Amino acid sequence: MTDIESHLEGRWILGKGKKATLVNPSTGEPLAEASTEGIDMKAALEFARAAGTDLREKTFAQRGEMLRAMSRAIHAHRDELIGLAIANGGNTRSDAKFDIDGASGTLAAYADLAAELGDVRVITDGVGVQLGRGARLFGQHAWVSRHGAAVHVNAFNFPAWGLAEKAAVALLAGVPVVTKPATSTALVSHRIVRVLVDAEACPPGVLSFIAGGTGDLLEHLRGQDVLAFTGSSDTGALLRGGPSVIAHSVRVNVEADSLNAAVLGPDVDDGSDLMNLFIGDVARDMTQKAGQKCTAIRRVYVPRGKEDLVVQKLSERLAAVKVGDPARDEVTMGPLATAKQLEDVRQGVSRLEKCAKIVFGSRTDVTPLGEGTDKGFFMSPVLLLSATPDRTDAVHTHEVFGPVATVIPYDGSAARAASWVCAGAGGLVSSVYSDDKAFVKSLVLAIAPFHGRVTIGSSKMIGQAIPPGTVLPQLVHGGPGRAGGGEELGGRRGLAFYMQRVALQGDRAVLEAVLKRE
Ligand code: NAP
Repeated sequence: MTDIESHLEGRWILGKGKKATLVNPSTGEPLAEASTEGIDMKAALEFARAAGTDLREKTFAQRGEMLRAMSRAIHAHRDELIGLAIANGGNTRSDAKFDIDGASGTLAAYADLAAELGDVRVITDGVGVQLGRGARLFGQHAWVSRHGAAVHVNAFNFPAWGLAEKAAVALLAGVPVVTKPATSTALVSHRIVRVLVDAEACPPGVLSFIAGGTGDLLEHLRGQDVLAFTGSSDTGALLRGGPSVIAHSVRVNVEADSLNAAVLGPDVDDGSDLMNLFIGDVARDMTQKAGQKCTAIRRVYVPRGKEDLVVQKLSERLAAVKVGDPARDEVTMGPLATAKQLEDVRQGVSRLEKCAKIVFGSRTDVTPLGEGTDKGFFMSPVLLLSATPDRTDAVHTHEVFGPVATVIPYDGSAARAASWVCAGAGGLVSSVYSDDKAFVKSLVLAIAPFHGRVTIGSSKMIGQAIPPGTVLPQLVHGGPGRAGGGEELGGRRGLAFYMQRVALQGDRAVLEAVLKRE
């Protein structure tokens, strides 16, 4: 078993004391240990901040070259990283590619954006405004890089993409990163950082890495730093309320739980391509990464009268799922990431059973394929049906972070469907499947304020459709309310979190000189 080190102050450091054990979730076999005890987190944060001086000297285009080098280095180690994701994350090969290619792809997308921004360090924001009676007194907004460090705390489910999607935006904005993956699945992130360090893809201090807990790091955050968190809402609330965060008005972005919904329109017939798209999206979201995806569909709203049909179609898909050790080729769904995760999901299904009945799968029964899987954290996909829903039911209030979804009938009206979707109190993404433009308009505009993203499935775009569970660098990721109130990515929109918008006011000629391209 290996010890995994943190990369702080430009060097690899091993923590002391009690270590956390990282395991293979298919077999329970210990793989590595991690600890950050005894590490000087204040010095680590100061070192990262100091690296910002050189980073800010680079133009966006130059920072983009760095992101391109990072993307290429990750891609060059793709197979090795896939192997680690299978071993430590319980990912199937396809799940692992989703994470690792998502990482290199997002870095590449931000490298492209950097080229568009060009050889500048400041971004002017919109057109300026004349402030006085004459043309001379003028106001212009501009974005400048903050002088702190970006601390990134990530969830266990996307150790590659989670690291890269946050780092790509922060580094392009000119802010050095201290990244901390969830400890349980940190092997992939650890290897990525090693690959980047060895390839000298980014200068020392620009990307620091924590293997284990954050220690007292967050107590040292100051007003130019930012904290971006992905994980449970409980941890999000804790970090948002940290004394240093409050005392120094540290910017915080939280990406948390979400009860993502999919709504089938009343016009969608059995046997249509659109019905197949809808069923395919729900089945994929239930089983990809064993349902451990923040964007996965949890609530499936269907016009009353079609619930039996949808349950039957989904059950057929789920019956074809092969649960087991993802190192085996025939396996299509791996285990949950940790023993605690399995326990939480089983308890979550029990809560759902108070308002819904299981129509496919089981909370406890599963026979995984593979040697030694009796000690793994496996679960079968579970589909539930909530025939007579109530707004206070767990299905609208409790996220079960596993291969679990609930079918819920509605009366076929867009207004009623919207009111059910919004009962989830804010989400990352919801989707609607319909060719009825009036239905789609009414539903989309009603649910839009409660979501970061809404996807619309319609017959004419089948074949090009990107599933709702896929987060794209071009579009924002985040959502209000339960989803944490955060916003990431969205092309250049993501830069705003790491930069300061400043209003410059004065003689127009002087302002133009200040903002002139170099
Ligand atoms: P979690 O238990 O909240 O942990 C998330 C991260 O926070 C981990 O890196 C964890 O580190 C760290 N952490 C926990 N307590 C901390 C503390 N007191 N101080 C500093 N860091 C702390 O969540 P999880 O179980 O990993 O993730 C599952 C949840 O994440 C689900 O609810 C899911 O919806 C949500 N999620 C949301 C998104 C999104 O984009 N909105 C994406 C993925 C997941 P350790 O591992 O070292 O404890």
